[in-house]
Amino acid sequence: MSVMTMRASLAKAQTHALPPTEQPQPRVRISWLELTCLPCGEVAGYLEDQRIVRPVFPGGIRLEGNRPRCGRCSGLLLAGNRGVATSRDGIGWIGAERR
Ligand SMILES: [Zn+2]
Repeated sequence: MSVMTMRASLAKAQTHALPPTEQPQPRVRISWLELTCLPCGEVAGYLEDQRIVRPVFPGGIRLEGNRPRCGRCSGLLLAGNRGVATSRDGIGWIGAERR
């Protein structure tokens, strides 16, 4: 009976002993989705991890509510290519070729 009590208190102590900043960094994996403007015919930016909108140039994307729109023509952005990058520089690359 006393063993179970010890195990329970140990687990609790471990949780408190590991602040988030002290944990080892997980390998970076950014899932990205290309956001293409149909009228402009250009990639306006990328959606990272399904929540971060990153325009390829400043003002390239503006948010209307939660919908990303083209910063130039206000056109709706369409989802294009998608992939997973292991670094921020890898976003937009499929294989060894940037689209
Ligand atoms: Zn546009």
